[in-house]
Amino acid sequence: MADGQFGFATRAVHAGNIPDKATGARALPIYESAAFVFENSDDAAARFALRKYGEIYSRIVNPTVAALEERVASLEGGLGAVATASGMAAEFITFVALAGQGDRIVASSQLYGGTITQLDVTLRRLGIETVFVDGDDPADYAAVIDDRTKLVYAEAVANPSGEIADIEGLAEVAHAARIPLVVDSTMATPYLMRPIEHGADIVIHSATKFLSGAGTVLGGVVVDSGTFHWDEDKFPLFYEPVPSYNGLTWVGNFAQYAFLTRLRAEQLRDVGPAISAHSAFLIAQGVETLPLRVQRQVDNTREIAAWLEAQPQVEAVHWAGLASHPHHDRALKYFPNAGSGSVFSFDIRGGRAAGRRFIDSLNLFSHVANIGDVKSLAIHPASTTHGQLSDEQLREAGIGEGTIRLSIGIETAADLIADLGQALENSQESAGADGTQSGAHSEEDRS
Ligand SMILES: *Cc1c(COP(=O)(O)O)cnc(C)c1O
Repeated sequence: MADGQFGFATRAVHAGNIPDKATGARALPIYESAAFVFENSDDAAARFALRKYGEIYSRIVNPTVAALEERVASLEGGLGAVATASGMAAEFITFVALAGQGDRIVASSQLYGGTITQLDVTLRRLGIETVFVDGDDPADYAAVIDDRTKLVYAEAVANPSGEIADIEGLAEVAHAARIPLVVDSTMATPYLMRPIEHGADIVIHSATKFLSGAGTVLGGVVVDSGTFHWDEDKFPLFYEPVPSYNGLTWVGNFAQYAFLTRLRAEQLRDVGPAISAHSAFLIAQGVETLPLRVQRQVDNTREIAAWLEAQPQVEAVHWAGLASHPHHDRALKYFPNAGSGSVFSFDIRGGRAAGRRFIDSLNLFSHVANIGDVKSLAIHPASTTHGQLSDEQLREAGIGEGTIRLSIGIETAADLIADLGQALENSQESAGADGTQSGAHSEEDRS
């Protein structure tokens, strides 16, 4: 399919999926097979040596997974994609493909909690050091990039602070250092914003969230623009003969597909976080309705964020679509059509105790550690998703004791507002008496 000719909604439904040749099945077939039969010995040898593209074994290539990969790559405007068992796996294989012992990653401090621990605990233990940047100015990143730095990492919309990355500025800073900008665009979704159009080189998704949309499955996707020039001094492994593939070289043999081929033929082979065909099917089906769902979610969010901001029990609402958010200008620049997503946080008056009472009072909102579902969700990050972080890391991630994260679904907005309203009232029941309440910590919590 010549993707460029079709609109976003058409590609969401059709990219990567043609009717099954053998049966004519219109839906994407679920190829639940660990391995695939070779035509003959020559064919088998050619596939193993990467001289011929084709299925071998589902840890590396699977036709259902390939359809999902093509669909997401098309929506992001990338050259191709590699799908993984989870968003964390997509991040891990990207990081370890680009950085090794003694190398550095420069990353925003405003990241998903699991990403912070992957970088700060596991990769650090493997000898890859991450420098977390507190500021939001690309110059703050440039200041800490050194010769050993192999990539710049940020979230398009930070979870849960709602801060918007200056992707164009970060791309300039990264490219000046001859390293790629990698963007986690889970919260933005390709419907709202496509980082590659703004200069990002690699885009990562937790497909568990908006791409699937139904909260039924885990998955991740790495999309490569295919346009980054791998500098031979910075990234020698892209140019050195690969012993495990008979001495071919990633750039020499695969040109603009070098990174994608390495992710698949080396990282999926060696690390093994393959997504199942059934999971890929669920996500590919979810993507078909992505434009409809996300538009509705953002419409609901706009109404709910404005309503919350006017409530006396609410200290601040952190959604960049609001004029009060410090990144409102960035939201207008990067999200001109619909708005900066449907996951945001707000600070409740009364701190941790009020936050817990609020969460426990919700009826329609579900209290779960997920986002991007068609059902509305709520959580208290300081005690859950970001509970493993130190006080300082929490502050840097923009999370206070009374911060509540909401993921707005596709329900009727008035019903969601009614549920939030009664929970806000209940949250304040014993407020004011015990000194743990409003004000004292909130100014410094909001960094
Ligand atoms: C959930 C999430 C991840 C991790 O993805 P999993 O699919 O849960 O492994 C990474 N980044 C962001 C922004 C997320 O919301």
